[in-house]
Amino acid sequence: MLTGKHLIAGNWTGGDETFTSQPAHGPAHAFSVGTAADVDAAVTGAEEAFWSFGYSSRESRAAFLNAIADEIESRCDAITEVGTQETGLPEARLNGERGRTTGQLRLFASHILKGDYLDKRHDEALPDRQPLPRPDIKMVQRPVGPVAVFGASNFPLAFSTAGGDTASALAAGCPVVVKGHPAHPGTAELVAQAIDAAIKKCGVHPGVFSLIQSNGIEVGEALVKHPLIQAVGFTGSLRAGRALFDLCAARPTPIPFFGELGSVNPMFLLPHALKNRGAEIAKGWAGSLTMGAGQFCTNPGIVVALDGDDTDAFSAAATTALEAVNAQTMLTDGIASAYRKGRDQVAKTAGVRELMTSTCDLRNATPYLYRVSGEDWLDNHVLGEEVFGPLGIIVTVSDFIQMQAIARSLQGQLTSTIHMDDADMDEAKALMPVLERKAGRILTNGFPTGVEVCDAMVHGGPYPASTNFGATSVGTLAIRRFLRPVCYQNMPDALLPADLG
Ligand code: NAP
Repeated sequence: MLTGKHLIAGNWTGGDETFTSQPAHGPAHAFSVGTAADVDAAVTGAEEAFWSFGYSSRESRAAFLNAIADEIESRCDAITEVGTQETGLPEARLNGERGRTTGQLRLFASHILKGDYLDKRHDEALPDRQPLPRPDIKMVQRPVGPVAVFGASNFPLAFSTAGGDTASALAAGCPVVVKGHPAHPGTAELVAQAIDAAIKKCGVHPGVFSLIQSNGIEVGEALVKHPLIQAVGFTGSLRAGRALFDLCAARPTPIPFFGELGSVNPMFLLPHALKNRGAEIAKGWAGSLTMGAGQFCTNPGIVVALDGDDTDAFSAAATTALEAVNAQTMLTDGIASAYRKGRDQVAKTAGVRELMTSTCDLRNATPYLYRVSGEDWLDNHVLGEEVFGPLGIIVTVSDFIQMQAIARSLQGQLTSTIHMDDADMDEAKALMPVLERKAGRILTNGFPTGVEVCDAMVHGGPYPASTNFGATSVGTLAIRRFLRPVCYQNMPDALLPADLG
């Protein structure tokens, strides 16, 4: 079932050098390590495919996206089996994520059929305008060309081989070359088999999709530097994302890098909500913080609340809820050890007090809970950096002025949450202008894990939440990353793209 090969423009190929997968349980497999020649073959194939795929009808691309979804569903048991082995995520999570992935593909199919995303504009000619006539001017969004996508470790399906980046790029008309994440190469291969089958079924150019496996940075570097690549979609760490962003900017022809990077997703607890519902919020927070072993970019790592009895009660309730959470398997050994390093960094920071002691080793994660004053948090910027895993920090502020100071000091965030009752409206109104400048999505009385795939979703934000504040990697607006407006002046209808008809 698994070949360990790359899929390069319709050919399953592999070289002599291999790496071995490191599943949380079940059998390990050998996978080919991609080379610069593989990257060149895949990107050249993608460019060739663009001459037909980039000019194909929206109906045919919608049919292709739906066919990929069907082919993934028809391999559901194998994908769940290998996915759970490789990632250690439970079966229910893999099944849910598969539904999200196929739902996303189908959503983009229906989105492009509607056509609104083309943002068509027309300024009619004004031949009699004085002092100068106006020409006829039309505009439509066109696909940019071959796109590179990096599979993400924490979403083996929804942000990987046929995930949101791939679905939105294909919907736009852009061929895709995926650099598989080494944490789940078997899952990636099974999904690539599904895409390959859909390509054959729909008669699409085989260069429209390639998957290159690798466990090192060389393939990713070669991919973003390849002159025919026009844009990059990435979800992962700030360190890797920044390195790839810099490579994209340093190219002779720079290209956009759509990186979705780290976030601590702060929650602000306003006084009446805290007094009236503190224990309930604490329980909900513990659930959100520990879901999927905290390996979500929307994990709410920081709670900001006024110092006092209500926050003490909140801390006690959160501690009780977190103590009941068992150790969970993390996605990779590296992520587990990075989690413990992050924990050590937080624990040794001046003014930080541990509220809950737990121990975890190997590939396991248990929750940690800390408390720090607003003053110490403001003095130690390291506390505002993402710790990828189930670690929470309660920041106790002396007054609302300090809560606002913390909001103003935040780096860019994917999300920010206000817990409020009606009586907290004035404070919430004062926080909103600040949070709007800091986050891509602002919530009230909820938890940010669980990102709806829909038209109005924004999963992005100011740097370092993302490298491009005008974009989202979830929801139908994600297609805009892979489009470029083109204006047509005094153009005969026969020369216009079909989408302008
Ligand atoms: P990562 O280190 O960012 O790696 C993501 C991908 O980028 C991998 O395919 C990796 O290749 C590649 N890569 C890394 N450094 C590169 C470089 N300098 N040049 C070119 N390619 C490079 O993420 P990860 O492996 O998934 O997890 C590591 C840490 O990332 C986690 O502990 C967590 O802190 C963070 N993370 C954050 C999010 C989020 O959404 N905020 C999601 C996932 C991970 P190879 O692995 O093949 O070397």
